[in-house]
Amino acid sequence: MNQKQRAHLEKRLLRERERALRALAQFDERAKVSQQEEDGDLTTYPLHLADEGTDTMEQEKEFLLASKEGRLVYWIDDALRTLYKDPESFGVCLECEEPIALERLDIVPWTRLCVDCQTAEEERSEAAA
Ligand SMILES: [Zn+2]
Repeated sequence: MNQKQRAHLEKRLLRERERALRALAQFDERAKVSQQEEDGDLTTYPLHLADEGTDTMEQEKEFLLASKEGRLVYWIDDALRTLYKDPESFGVCLECEEPIALERLDIVPWTRLCVDCQTAEEERSEAAA
């Protein structure tokens, strides 16, 4: 993957992240309202994704993983972290360590698995369900 392709995928990731965060903010608003109705206590979920290794980070992670959009943000952040800190391993399949097809990365830039490994993984989880 060259610099230009990485820059393109970075843009895709940032755009998807913004979209997911916007959806999440709506969800968060509803979550706050129902929380307030239940016990009168307004609980907020601050998103400071730059901070790592804190209790806040753990709470955020739990919150993010509780919804579809949140999981997406989590994956996107993970992909962006790899892209910035370890660009050589971005776009490489975690399972078989082969480069993931660019056509696939263009559609799901946060994916960590190539098509073959993703299919195998889905078959495994279907078998388990
Ligand atoms: Zn693979």
